[in-house]
Amino acid sequence: MSSKQLTYDEQLQRMKQFIESGDDFLVVSHVNPDGDAISSTVAVGWLLNSLGKSYTMMNEGPCPAKFHYLWGARDIIEVSHAEAHKYRYVIAVDCADYQRIGKVSERFAEDVKIANIDHHATNDYYGDAHLIRADAAATAEILYDLLEYFGIEWNQEIATCIYTGLLTDTGGFRYTNTTAKVMRVASQLLDYGVQAGELAEHLLERVSKPHIRLLQRTLNTLAYNADHRICWLTVHLSDMEESGASNEDLEGLVSYPRNIEGVEIGILFKEVQEEVYKVSMRSSSAADVSRIAQHFGGGGHLRAAGCTVRGRLDDIIRSVVQEAEKELMANGSA
Ligand code: 5GP
Ligand code: MN
Repeated sequence: MSSKQLTYDEQLQRMKQFIESGDDFLVVSHVNPDGDAISSTVAVGWLLNSLGKSYTMMNEGPCPAKFHYLWGARDIIEVSHAEAHKYRYVIAVDCADYQRIGKVSERFAEDVKIANIDHHATNDYYGDAHLIRADAAATAEILYDLLEYFGIEWNQEIATCIYTGLLTDTGGFRYTNTTAKVMRVASQLLDYGVQAGELAEHLLERVSKPHIRLLQRTLNTLAYNADHRICWLTVHLSDMEESGASNEDLEGLVSYPRNIEGVEIGILFKEVQEEVYKVSMRSSSAADVSRIAQHFGGGGHLRAAGCTVRGRLDDIIRSVVQEAEKELMANGSA
C-alpha cells in the first residue's frame, strides 16, 4: 500500500519501526535552514540519542547562530566539514522534495533508506517511510506527535526545540496555520518549562544591524503590478555585501510587501549568483503561492512558498508576476 493511503497512526507506527530497525542515521533538513528545519533536525537527534542510536546531524550550510541555544544545534555539521562516510539510514525533515536536501544527498549510500517527515502540501513522497501531514503548522508539530508516540520523557530542552519550530513557522502564533492543536501543544510545552517570552524576544523581535541596513536599501526597490495586488522587493548581491548581511538577515523582508493594504501577494527576489534568483512569496488572501512556486520548480505552502529561477532579473520578475496574476484570477479574493 502506498504511504499516501496510510492513516496518520499507521504512518507513525511505520516511522517508529524505521527508526527502531536502523542505526548510524543521518538527519538532514533543507538548504538555508529556518527555525522549523533546525528545530526538527535537533528534535530527531534528541530522539535518536534517547534511544541510544548513533546519528549525525548535517546540513548543506551552517546552522544560523540565533538557533545555537537549542539542544544539539552546535552539533549540526556543515556538509563541507563532514568526514567521508556514507549513510544507509537518512531522516529528512521539513524537505518537500529531494532537491531541498541539497549537497547532503552526496553522503547517502547507494542502498540508502530515507524517512521523509514533513508538513508541506507540495511534498512529493520521495523516500521509503513517510510521516507527512500537510495540516501541521510545522514539521516540529509532527515531531511532537512522534515523540509522544515513542513515549519519551519530556523536559525543558526538547520542549524548547519543538516550541521553536512552532513559534517560527506560525510567525509567533499569528498565521492561519495556528490551529487549536498548535495552541494545545504549545500550552503543554510551556508546562515543561519553555520560556515563551524570552524566545519570542530573541527570535521575533530582535533584528540585526545588517538586517536593518538591508531593509533601508531594499525598501527603495519596492514595486507593484498594475492593480497593486502584487508587490515585490529586490535584493542584489551588492546590497548583501554592502549591508554586511548573510542569508539569515533576509528573514522577514518579504513581509513588508505582503503586509501593505490591498496587496495579496508579496514577493522577494534575491540574487543568489549572476542570473540566479531565489524567489520568496507570501499570500495574504486565498491566492495559493505554492502553485506559483511549483510552476517554477519550487514548492511550499498556500501562504508561503519559494523557488529558484535562472535568467535576467526583469524577465524573471515579468514571468513570476504574470503567474501571480493568473493565480489571483483563478483563486484570489477579488
Ligand atoms: P522561504 O520563502 O522562506 O524560503 O520559504 C517559504 C516556504 O516555501 C518554506 O516552507 C520553504 O520550505 C518553501 N520553499 C522555499 N523555497 C523552496 C523551493 O525552492 N522548493 C520547495 N519545494 N519549497 C521551497
Ligand atoms: Mn516548516
